[in-house]
Amino acid sequence: IPVDDFDLVIFGGTGDLARRKILPGLYRRFCAGQMPETARIIGAARSEHDTEEFRQLVRDAIREFSTKNTCDEGQIGAFLERLDYVQVDARGSDGWDALKEMMRDGVVKAYYFSVAPSLFGDIAERLQSYGIADESARIVVEKPFGRDLDSAKKLNADLAKHFDETQIYRIDHYLGKETVQNLMAVRFGNILFEPLWNSQYVDHIQITVAETVGVGGRGEYYDRSGAMRDMVQNHLMQLLCLIAMEPPSRFDPDAVRDEKLKVIRALEPVDHHSIVRGQYEATATEPSYREDAGDPRSTTESFIALRCMISNWRWAGTPFFLRTGKKLKARTSEIAVMFKDAPHSIFGEEAGRHANVLSIRLQPNEGMTLKVTIKEPGPGGMRLVDVPLDMSFAEALGDDAEEITDAYERLIMDVIRGNQTLFMRGDEVEAAWAWTDPLIESWEKRGDMPKAYEAYSSGPEEAAMMLHREGRRWREIK
Ligand code: NAD
Repeated sequence: IPVDDFDLVIFGGTGDLARRKILPGLYRRFCAGQMPETARIIGAARSEHDTEEFRQLVRDAIREFSTKNTCDEGQIGAFLERLDYVQVDARGSDGWDALKEMMRDGVVKAYYFSVAPSLFGDIAERLQSYGIADESARIVVEKPFGRDLDSAKKLNADLAKHFDETQIYRIDHYLGKETVQNLMAVRFGNILFEPLWNSQYVDHIQITVAETVGVGGRGEYYDRSGAMRDMVQNHLMQLLCLIAMEPPSRFDPDAVRDEKLKVIRALEPVDHHSIVRGQYEATATEPSYREDAGDPRSTTESFIALRCMISNWRWAGTPFFLRTGKKLKARTSEIAVMFKDAPHSIFGEEAGRHANVLSIRLQPNEGMTLKVTIKEPGPGGMRLVDVPLDMSFAEALGDDAEEITDAYERLIMDVIRGNQTLFMRGDEVEAAWAWTDPLIESWEKRGDMPKAYEAYSSGPEEAAMMLHREGRRWREIK
């Protein structure tokens, strides 16, 4: 279904994110017939280009970053016709009048801030002072949204001077993933799971986001944030909220975000015995984290594991284990709901004890698996085994599977539709920092040193120990 006609301005339209994600994503929506015939995309950046050069840059980006069967030259040509370029200086006066001239009346206006956060306030201010954005305009802002509570508050305040909260779309691309939305469909569209979704039946929950890449060329930049700020405060917290929140009364932006906010506010502080930070070691051919970071004494973590508790009636007593890191064994993201054992085994202890597990994969191969217990086939008596009830979205959706691979395109279309459900609200972001800040301060104050871990392993031994201590174990990273 096509969205309403729009003018979308991408500040930073020549940058890495625009080339890798935003523009190829828009091209795919164009191919899918979702873009009205007169919709326009305007690249706005500091670099000197004319529209032809910008179109060439986008053509190259689509060829490089789009999937093979969507690169039809005819289609690309038609898509490029929709593109314009304007050179603007976010901190000066160049280009703003020209941009105003280009914007049409009576269409949806959206402004994507794909630039460093230090420019968010400048751009927001100029969009208003040059009379470019009206009351229905939308702005989209990228991560990182601050590096602590104070800076996030300042960013929120800078944007709030010029835009209402209903106009601000803070992107967390994890929320655009098909599986993440499916998590809500599974929880709130079935009667099967929700009655069991609490501490009476759930032993614990694990959320893992593992990457195989190191910090490589971005080392110095990464070293200023670390896994907690880069991944936990935003992506893992969002996943935690969706898995733990109460059912909202409606699937509408504020109803959903109110429930997520309550989860964040109910998170208990985490003491240092429940946090393990790590740094990857060198291999025979690859540098260590500290070498990548360019600081032999860096104390920034490239891995973190945490044990979190949510203080409310539903979850009291059920730990949530979060873990994320670089240079781990496999590139995988999943949420696993580990149910308790059946209260009594009628088959006797020799048949074995088996607990149900619902695992929700975000990557690779988005899908869901429910581990159930059945009788081992054959004449060997009543012995129990686990079998997976497996659903891969790619298989379930057949040829449409290609459509589900990118979160950005879905989120951008939601901006045009004016649907904020999958975007973070300002108070959510601040609440997440309010929980994160004391943890970071506490390890900084203690002079905590990250534990070394072997590259391409499951992370530091201490992270495994954290669960062993209480008779639990991490799921294998594979
Ligand atoms: P980049 O450095 O590749 O691109 C920056 C863009 O901003 C360029 O188009 C540049 O011309 C423009 N720009 C810089 N200064 C300007 C000014 N004064 N006036 C106008 N335009 C100016 O950066 P990027 O990697 O594309 O990242 C953009 C934003 O997206 C950042 O906030 C980043 O944290 C975020 N982000 C990037 C990625 C990624 O994969 N690259 C992922 C998540 C979030």
